[in-house]
Amino acid sequence: NDELFKNVISHAKEYGFVFQSSEIYDGLSAVYDYGQNGAELKNNIKTYWWKSMVQMHENIVGIDAAIFMHPTTWKASGHVDGFNDPMIDNKDSKKRYRADQLIEDKIARYEKDGKTEKAAQLQTAMDEALKADNLTALRDLIVEHEIVCPVSGTRNWTDVRQFNLMFSTQMGAVADDADVIYLRPETAQGIFVNYLNVQKTGRMKIPFGIAQIGKAFRNEVIARQFIMRMREFEQMEMQFFVRPGSEMEWYDYWKQTRLKWHKALGTASEKYRFHDHTKLAHYANAAVDIEFQFPFGFKEVEGIHSRTDFDLSQHQKFSGKKIQYFDPEINQNYVPYVIETSIGLDRMFLLTLINAYEEQDLSEGDKKDSRVVLRLHPCLAPVKAAILPLTKKDGLPEKAREIMDRLKLDHNIIYEEKDSIGKRYRRQDAIGTPFCITVDHQSLQDNTVTIRHRDTMEQERVEIAQLDRIIGDRVSW
Ligand code: ATP
Repeated sequence: NDELFKNVISHAKEYGFVFQSSEIYDGLSAVYDYGQNGAELKNNIKTYWWKSMVQMHENIVGIDAAIFMHPTTWKASGHVDGFNDPMIDNKDSKKRYRADQLIEDKIARYEKDGKTEKAAQLQTAMDEALKADNLTALRDLIVEHEIVCPVSGTRNWTDVRQFNLMFSTQMGAVADDADVIYLRPETAQGIFVNYLNVQKTGRMKIPFGIAQIGKAFRNEVIARQFIMRMREFEQMEMQFFVRPGSEMEWYDYWKQTRLKWHKALGTASEKYRFHDHTKLAHYANAAVDIEFQFPFGFKEVEGIHSRTDFDLSQHQKFSGKKIQYFDPEINQNYVPYVIETSIGLDRMFLLTLINAYEEQDLSEGDKKDSRVVLRLHPCLAPVKAAILPLTKKDGLPEKAREIMDRLKLDHNIIYEEKDSIGKRYRRQDAIGTPFCITVDHQSLQDNTVTIRHRDTMEQERVEIAQLDRIIGDRVSW
């Protein structure tokens, strides 16, 4: 599995999906850039989400709020005081770790060594310490279980301290405390502070939702596993406003609806599971993660949270503006309750890549052959079809260009004439292109081409006039 994950990471780089940020300067930790194919795949995932959330739900609208927000937003939301990770430093290596992560690694170690009872005990003790925000107890566990620094190998630890995950910067020319603003650590607050604007201008009636896709920033101290945990990442969030008392019904609805969204891409059901939270965030009365089986274990891709009226009430209190909804059906004013669905775009991207990646052995007898193919859902594939003239002469390139010029109006198509046809097929397999269209001498005579299907590698002869329909049928939403 480690091997598979490593291969996916190098494949992502080799084929222009993901690059390390500022690589020529040796990179910036936990920050990544999306390349020519990555940007397309990412856009397609966004489109799939936006269409199924906004376009398919009459009562959900989308917005695009700014990353910078009034600093009071983050006081009201609880992020200034509460968005912390418990950190501990090793005095010898001068390395900083998340205390809970060190303990989790130890739990995994116990489990590996068959000490399941010890593992369970430590887990319970850690959960209790985290729940009570008891930093001394966390440190005691690290000492008691003789956890050593992975770098220095020593047990020379500092106290555990809280470390805020928000990035801050200054607005304007004066570096005064009052001018400190934060880069948003979640997109949700942009929706909450616009609740009244959207509800009024859109004449929205409860239940209704507001969706948004955008960047979020967290100063994650340990960044692991490629684009799983980044310092700059993207979220696709939807806040659904409901009548108080109906939140559990909607919580269940969104839990099921979001899982269906994942499965509709054709991913095997057993790769997904729900994980209910036992430790709830300060704003939530129920929370569940949708987890995917990554090569390094089941991990969260999306969270569904019942956020009560916490955020809207806080903004009402801090802003002094009345955030109420008059519900004509029950003739009452109230602050709506909120169910949130929050998915990390980058994690969804990684999931998609891992799930699609396949190394295939195509050897026949003594003839060794293999390929790497990305079995992406055609709707998500960065390139929908490649147009390949068999040779560079006899008017084949011109004919191929003619086809290209027509198809590119509707789809992302590429044209390639370099290298043997077999090599060109392999390159398209590696980026997940569902169709390769080969133009040969016969094409000049009867206006037909061969179309090769990525997954089966089967080829068929079709009329050029049919290409639009054949491709459109597979790649349209
Ligand atoms: P984790 O426990 O993994 O840190 P979280 O519970 O803090 O995640 P949420 O605050 O619920 O995450 O954010 C919603 C989604 O945003 C997550 O399900 C995840 O897909 C994504 N996400 C959160 N933090 C990061 C990050 N640092 N890098 C990439 N994606 C992230």
